[in-house]
Amino acid sequence: MPAKQPPRYLDNHATTRTDPRVVEAMLPFFSERFGNAASIGHSFGDDAARAVETAREQVASLVGARPEEVIFTSGATEANNLALKGLLSTSGNRRHLVVSEVEHPSVLDPVSRLARDGCRVTRVGCDTAGQVDPAEVAAAIEPDTALVSVMWANNEVGTINPVAEIADRCADHGVVFHTDAVQAVGRIPVNCRNVTAGLLALSAHKIYGPKGIGALIVRRGSQRIRLLPQIEGGGHESHLRSGTLPVPLIVGFGTACRLAADALESESVRLAGLDKTLAAGIRKRLEGVHVNGHPDDRLPGNMNLGFEGVDGDALLAGLKRIAVSSGSACTTADPGTSHVLAAMGVPQTLSRASLRFGLGRFNTEDDILAAIDDVVGTVERLRTTTRPG
Ligand code: PMP
Repeated sequence: MPAKQPPRYLDNHATTRTDPRVVEAMLPFFSERFGNAASIGHSFGDDAARAVETAREQVASLVGARPEEVIFTSGATEANNLALKGLLSTSGNRRHLVVSEVEHPSVLDPVSRLARDGCRVTRVGCDTAGQVDPAEVAAAIEPDTALVSVMWANNEVGTINPVAEIADRCADHGVVFHTDAVQAVGRIPVNCRNVTAGLLALSAHKIYGPKGIGALIVRRGSQRIRLLPQIEGGGHESHLRSGTLPVPLIVGFGTACRLAADALESESVRLAGLDKTLAAGIRKRLEGVHVNGHPDDRLPGNMNLGFEGVDGDALLAGLKRIAVSSGSACTTADPGTSHVLAAMGVPQTLSRASLRFGLGRFNTEDDILAAIDDVVGTVERLRTTTRPG
């Protein structure tokens, strides 16, 4: 009997496969180059410290920041927590924050915590394409607003927000702007020089780097940002995040950023082509397929489709040849409903029957053809079996 083929991986918003070149760069730092980057003065520590600083430059360079603005964390969840809780702990009697409804839980949950601890929160919605309106954000700013948080691009529907405009509105009011740029980095140009964000979060495992490493960019411009560290003990990372640095992960993160910068242009064109082929291929053969998200301002490689007349769980269970996600794989607590699709006004039945396709560096045209066949076949089968009488 022929060996069973593993499904094609089309869930690159949840995580990406570590690029073999990244793995290769990391390996020596698990073995012979094992020094502690804080234990300098001998060759092992000096070597590790140099490797960390090279990676810091690579991360900074990808997002147009300065190396000293990069604070390494365990990932974007921690970076977002540090940004939100860290800032609101030092903001004195400025206890109000503005956040969009379509943020990732790593922003929404710390915001809920801050609200329980006495902060006031204004939540701004989005339009039917999932986009946040800068005017609405500006209107929500109050005299005691400390922070505005709006993601660069959405992890479920791929919609890109007008972050430059939102950042400018915040700057006009002297309010710090934080943006979760996890899904945007490496897929579209993300440049701190063009967007006056004070705080920006990113993560390695979404850009073909290892899991367990990310960064918060803390800008050091005219707006002085003070954060209370959330993890203390040794004063690493400019006293903002203590703990022995995971040198292999940091080296992998830096390498992933360098590769992303090199490939950004060609990869985004290729992925945008593949996601169009996917949507067109499915919609040519099936009626009642809705595209969730913005038609133009969307991440290359993202496609979120809602299928009329099928049950979401049955649809996901029926797909045998591809690995995709229903709604957002990042929200494990309540996988049946999507707060993003709800905010966009997508009816619950369609939201539950929506699939998120996340195409990435290692996907081929062949994967797309397999996905079209699998999705069309499964939806047709389900529609026939569930059709009344
Ligand atoms: N923000 C967004 C938009 C994400 O997609 C994710 C990952 N699902 C995170 C934050 C959290 O990142 P990490 O896995 O590095 O904690």
